[in-house]
Amino acid sequence: MEKIAIIGAGISGLSTAHFLKDKYEVTVFEKENRPGGLIRCRRVNGNLFHICGGHVFNSKRQDVLKWFWSKFIQNEEFSKTDRNSCVFMDKGDNSLVHDNIPYPIENHMYLFNDEVQKKFYADLDEIDKVKGLNAKFTDYESFGDFLRWRFGKTLYDMYFEPYNKKVWRRDLTTVPMSWMEGKLPMPTTQEMRDNNANKVEEKAFVHSTFWYEKNNGSQYIADKLAEGLYVIYNSNINSIEKNGEKWVVCGKEFDKVVYCGNIKDMIKVVKGIDFSKYELEVEALKYHGTTAVFCEIDKNPYSWIYQPSKQHESHRIICTGNFAESNNSDLPEGRITATVEFTDAISKEDILENLKKIPLHPKYLDHKYNKYTYPIQDANTRNMIKELKKDVSKNNFFFTGRFADWEYYNMDVAIGAAMDLCSKI
Ligand SMILES: Cc1cc2nc3c(=O)[nH]c(=O)nc-3n(C[C@H](O)[C@H](O)[C@H](O)COP(=O)(O)OP(=O)(O)OC[C@H]3O[C@@H](n4cnc5c(N)ncnc54)[C@H](O)[C@@H]3O)c2cc1C
Repeated sequence: MEKIAIIGAGISGLSTAHFLKDKYEVTVFEKENRPGGLIRCRRVNGNLFHICGGHVFNSKRQDVLKWFWSKFIQNEEFSKTDRNSCVFMDKGDNSLVHDNIPYPIENHMYLFNDEVQKKFYADLDEIDKVKGLNAKFTDYESFGDFLRWRFGKTLYDMYFEPYNKKVWRRDLTTVPMSWMEGKLPMPTTQEMRDNNANKVEEKAFVHSTFWYEKNNGSQYIADKLAEGLYVIYNSNINSIEKNGEKWVVCGKEFDKVVYCGNIKDMIKVVKGIDFSKYELEVEALKYHGTTAVFCEIDKNPYSWIYQPSKQHESHRIICTGNFAESNNSDLPEGRITATVEFTDAISKEDILENLKKIPLHPKYLDHKYNKYTYPIQDANTRNMIKELKKDVSKNNFFFTGRFADWEYYNMDVAIGAAMDLCSKI
């Protein structure tokens, strides 16, 4: 049997190992002491802290769902939950009937006062005139252009721009559309009119439900997928060297390598492939990080709370305590766990100052800064990665994963990408 080395035991590396284990002798190298990468969780005083986000699972791909559920006992190990999100608008803004607007905001404009509603409907008429009734994904020049001309100026100014600027930390017109396909909601102006007129709730939309583990959050997925695989933990791979037809990793020889770490590291640690053509572009790839602040907060009915307000530096609260009862341990009556997210690094002092201003009385429990959370593409990134993949595969070297492919993958899309790659190896 040929030997294959997989670098990284995140969801990409773990699923790759499963897809290849019947055909190859598989060894997975992971620099941390447990599997999961971005989906890792840890307990803080018994409460479950997702060190990044608050991962939930669903997929549009039937082959991914079929594979995933072959690894788990769906209804025993997971619960299906309805998504119930809202937008916390600025308190005291007299244009609102409520401070908390259900998500998606464009279907709840009837909760705003007459003046805002009038502007919103005038915006929809303007969109019809300028973009036509059936504008396509390719009709927008940038993410900023899309938000402005899909939802109108009023909503852009009061929600989409301030919220997304906090997340992206850049001019939204510099974010290209090319890599957002399939990731953005595309309601037509008529749907927005109808949804407001009929007061349609979020439950009626695709992705309005998700699966969540009954115990241990997304760490449960990683731990279970790692079972039965040969994973060598605490092995930070800083050299992958070509030796004739073989690859040498950690002193062991392999026929093939699948790299599921970060492409910026990859081009430095791999010896035996000439990356000079790609080096500058890979080094220039942009990204940002996230500080996940673990808190206890007041009990509430929400899954996610979006915070466009400039009063807060954080942009989202994930109410993980509502996803599974076992996430909360020994909290005072009426309190649940949650993650408050800040883009990039923020000091503990600033976190504490910010928490004071957030509704639901968050109390700090812990925090973790993750340097790489969102890859940011430019118009050329996808092509460059595609070329690079083609070039390295000639050497029996392959790569896949969120920061290897530099793609905005969710877990299921990362599994799908691994599945597609493995069908060719
Ligand atoms: C804030 C946030 C919220 C999210 N929420 C969701 C959600 O709700 N649902 C969802 O489906 N997806 C969500 N995602 C996306 C999801 O986290 C990713 O798609 C997925 O975890 C990517 O897995 P990966 O294996 O590609 O990468 P990673 O998880 O980054 O795994 C890479 C692994 O490689 C290891 N590694 C790297 N370099 C080396 C080396 N040199 N030697 C050894 N090991 C190495 C790392 O330690 C790590 O374990 C979210 C992402 C973020 C940032």
